[in-house]
Amino acid sequence: MIIHPFSNQINCQVFIQENIYFMSNLRSIEQIIVPPPPHWVGNAFMVHNFFPGKLDMKRMSPFFLLDYGAKIEFPPSDIPRGVGVHPHRGFETVTIAYHGKVAHHDSAGNSGVIDEGDVQWMTAASGVLHKEYQDEAWSKKGGLVQMAQIWVNLPAKFKMSNPKYQSLKHSDFNRFTSPDEKAEVEVIAGNYNGTLGIASTFTPIEMYNAHLKNGAELLFSFPLLYNTGFLVIEGNVRVNDNVAPTDHFVLFANDGTDIRLTTTENAIVLILSGEPIHEPIESYGPFVMNTKQEILEAFDDLDKGKFGYLE
Ligand code: MN
Repeated sequence: MIIHPFSNQINCQVFIQENIYFMSNLRSIEQIIVPPPPHWVGNAFMVHNFFPGKLDMKRMSPFFLLDYGAKIEFPPSDIPRGVGVHPHRGFETVTIAYHGKVAHHDSAGNSGVIDEGDVQWMTAASGVLHKEYQDEAWSKKGGLVQMAQIWVNLPAKFKMSNPKYQSLKHSDFNRFTSPDEKAEVEVIAGNYNGTLGIASTFTPIEMYNAHLKNGAELLFSFPLLYNTGFLVIEGNVRVNDNVAPTDHFVLFANDGTDIRLTTTENAIVLILSGEPIHEPIESYGPFVMNTKQEILEAFDDLDKGKFGYLE
């Protein structure tokens, strides 16, 4: 079965000839990034930081940071592991749970559990304190953890807006299924082939989890200037004509629009693409602002209790 979801777009045509695709405006791969040595965040998350790290901090804008916790098995523990109370200001944290179960509380009064397949989209904006711990009942049994956290930057005009919280449940996502049923795209944000994401965003963002089976093929098309990367969560895939192994991050050049994703095994790929924010960035620890002065103000406001209170 042949899928050509963007054949109706003006800037791209897909020509099909004996099952071989000739895409007129292919986006090339800039780098396939091997998972960097991991570090602990609290005692619950061992993460590979793909960016900013060695990439320029604007390279994946509007995405500022990607921490990826590859699969790790935790033994049972009566005391839930986690990250204690800490602040954020100036951006959003998006947490995707592939395996494991995380409880969240913040000083804006929001709390919830991020279960397997769920996504938590927390807008820190003007500032929250929060803590992230493995769910207590889950912790007593232990098990497999695999998660990703993405920091989505906010434009200056939204950095000091009110905090917000979107708890996106696995069962609530809209899904695009390929005609041959070998591929399914869970649309977290944006629009894949007419299937809409349920997350609301401040700037144009495409974020999907693509689930593929042997023989699946998906085509993507993003505007030329959108910064775009794929994180391979499960399995080995082919991106255009390159092999991208499990736990690797594929960074695309901004030289085309179209991407072809195929696989010969069960695979999951996190797709990120978004319109860059063309503003200066000053970041320090948990704050992502535009100027040094705003970073100093963030520390000052934290001292004054303006981020609220959380035990
Ligand atoms: Mn945090």
